[in-house]
Amino acid sequence: MLSVKKAQERILASFKPLEGTTIAIEAALGCILSQDIISEIELPSFDNSSVDGFAVRTEDLHLSDANNPVSLLVTADIPAGSVPTVSLGAGQAARIMTGALLPTGADAVVMVEDTDFAHQTAGSSAPDHVKILAKVKKNDYIRKRGSDILTGQKILPAGLKLRPQDIGMLAMLGVPNVPVNKRPRVAIISSGDELVPVNVPLKPGKIHDSNTYMLAALVEILDCEVLQMGVAADRYEDVEILFDRAANFEPDLIISSAGVSVGAHDFIKDVVEASGSLNFWKVDMRPGKPLAFGAFQDIPFFGLPGNPVSSFVNFLVFVEPALRLLKGEKTALRQTTLVTLKEPIESDGRESYLRAQVTHENGRAIATLTGHQGSGNLFSLVQANALLIIPSGVKSCPPGSEVDAWILENH
Ligand code: AMP
Ligand code: MG
Repeated sequence: MLSVKKAQERILASFKPLEGTTIAIEAALGCILSQDIISEIELPSFDNSSVDGFAVRTEDLHLSDANNPVSLLVTADIPAGSVPTVSLGAGQAARIMTGALLPTGADAVVMVEDTDFAHQTAGSSAPDHVKILAKVKKNDYIRKRGSDILTGQKILPAGLKLRPQDIGMLAMLGVPNVPVNKRPRVAIISSGDELVPVNVPLKPGKIHDSNTYMLAALVEILDCEVLQMGVAADRYEDVEILFDRAANFEPDLIISSAGVSVGAHDFIKDVVEASGSLNFWKVDMRPGKPLAFGAFQDIPFFGLPGNPVSSFVNFLVFVEPALRLLKGEKTALRQTTLVTLKEPIESDGRESYLRAQVTHENGRAIATLTGHQGSGNLFSLVQANALLIIPSGVKSCPPGSEVDAWILENH
């Protein structure tokens, strides 16, 4: 039997990040940067005021404070976005707004609250004179050119998953088209004569197809593109048609659910083997069937189990790391967290992924199973916020013992 770790290693060894492309900044959230972002400009790109106030020359103001206000002649009014046309001479000031370019001659800004013009309202024009009521030091309230970012400085690293603040940074740097890794495109195929779509009432013997929708959601959470192929009936030709259709879209990955066990109507194996290759690995894991991994017409392929919880867990254990690697993320495998068991847990000695609710009590993460762990019981997964990972070889864990868990943050 193959350990989960070995199976993951074999899988990851057969994937490499997709090549880079560019995407409009508006669509870049969640994408992975394919290159370092190096600033081509300096920021701020000009000396500017960090407050609404008055641009001044400190040499005029050596003695100024609240008791000895110095009065200056206001010679200009500089709103944000404008270019001052005058330079400050001795005894002169300019009204200036936040973000406005500093006039030449000025070496500090006094905020409006520290002047006798403190109660300016929107639309008010600049006064003829202003009294400075505070001590003023050189460079006060000036954002210096280049003080945040220098030309040539590395700002964002390749491999970063773009967050809202990164999007803002790219805009600030003037990068409308962002170099990112291609988003993996994933074709999803379900199979089984018993499946009906969610909007069709159930008849005897039928069940709603839940994997189609759940697997699509799992793919979307990873910011990958879903190509929904539908449900194949349990006939060789039907399965073949859907696999051919999937291949025509040239996806980066095909995943199917169900139809890969030893049932009399399980044709996925035959179809994939006829146009590619398929390995069935006996993985030391629960829930889990043999893991079906191979290629259909050179497109990597995972055959997930049909039971929804098995499908979900196998996706997280094997498909998600592959997709993360394809996306160019730096870490393909999920992080684990240590949690403390509230109750005893029995296992059959295989590496087990158990549905649990983790709560925080007195600073400790305490785990309780969410009930019946049958591989078709999606309800106990819905009630869980974590999967406990009981290692291979462990058959029982007493209450109070610590085990690794995956916290299902986005799930
Ligand atoms: P199979 O691998 O085809 O034997 O399916 C195993 C179990 O998973 C059966 O009980 C199926 O009815 C169930 N199953 C298969 N596909 C789906 C699906 N798309 N949604 C929900 N259950 C499914
Ligand atoms: Mg089936």
